[in-house]
Amino acid sequence: MMSMKIALVGIGKIARDQHVPSLAASSEWELAATVSRHGGVDGVEAFDDLQSLLDARPDIGVVSLCLPPVPRFDYAAAALKAGRHVMLEKPPGATLAECHALEAMARETGVSIYATWHSREAAQVGKAKAWLSDKRLHSLAVTWKEDVRRWHPGQEWIWQAGGLGVFDPGINALSIVTEILPDPVHLTAATLEFPENRDTPIAASLTFKHPHGADMSAIFDWRQEGDQTWTIDVETDAGSLTLTDGGARLSINGAIQAETDEDGSPLQGEYPRLYARMAALVRSGEIDMDLAPMTHVADAFLLGRRVTVEPFDD
Ligand code: NAP
Repeated sequence: MMSMKIALVGIGKIARDQHVPSLAASSEWELAATVSRHGGVDGVEAFDDLQSLLDARPDIGVVSLCLPPVPRFDYAAAALKAGRHVMLEKPPGATLAECHALEAMARETGVSIYATWHSREAAQVGKAKAWLSDKRLHSLAVTWKEDVRRWHPGQEWIWQAGGLGVFDPGINALSIVTEILPDPVHLTAATLEFPENRDTPIAASLTFKHPHGADMSAIFDWRQEGDQTWTIDVETDAGSLTLTDGGARLSINGAIQAETDEDGSPLQGEYPRLYARMAALVRSGEIDMDLAPMTHVADAFLLGRRVTVEPFDD
């Protein structure tokens, strides 16, 4: 199979940590160019603006956008307008309306667009989904508590309007919940804690309504020092399921599950799986733009009670 040429845009933390190594390890992809205001990747043609790349390299059919959400729309729109397939980091945009607009543009142009949710590709999410598919839910509780200073040092955009604050990691939890639950849920209440010197929340608690009356809640907190917690606890009519480490580990009724794929083969990482999915979407001419995780976040901002808390400084 011929590899496909792809350009990476926004060479920051996640591009360097995950996108570049995943593309380098894949036989389906060739990293053919980068767009960055600051640098690039050794041995790869570098552009400092997207339009120059689109004009100069018609042979590059796919563009993967690793920018923060607020600046991303204009880049995605330009790439789609130029007839390129587009892969979006999470969250897929700064607003729901712009995500719908991007999907409509992709349909009109006849190209693929993929709103990626990397946490859905965590090792044990598929097994959790399969186990829950025929169970009756009693309760589900998300606890996502991490130290923002450890994971986002010096990142100003997460504190600016549109940067999502604690929902930047929290949306990962919601992407897993919306993947593993067989029934759709909706938010009924939220409390958002905003540091008095910031535009985005540092903590949030959410309550959801489940169609069969199960108790559903989520707590996100960026002030957690020491041990970090990314856990989803589920109680059902057939016992309990716990996903820990952001979906990397799973126990069912207290038994830790094997760290292999459903068919027993070794597990791939989250980003290699995202790029395999993007390759499949491009080959089949499909679109994957599931906005469910972002809908819950938008609803939390719509419905949430706001509490001002002490200022946060790096
Ligand atoms: P980042 O390092 O702060 O920024 C990524 C890059 O985006 C920057 O290096 C810059 O690229 C470009 N950029 C930033 N602001 C821009 C602006 N106003 N206009 C144009 N380009 C701009 O962020 P990140 O941590 O990689 O996160 C990027 C996205 O990936 C976010 O949506 C985030 O939620 C998601 N993500 C991050 C992580 C993580 O662990 N950090 C994990 C999963 C997903 P150049 O300097 O090359 O121009």
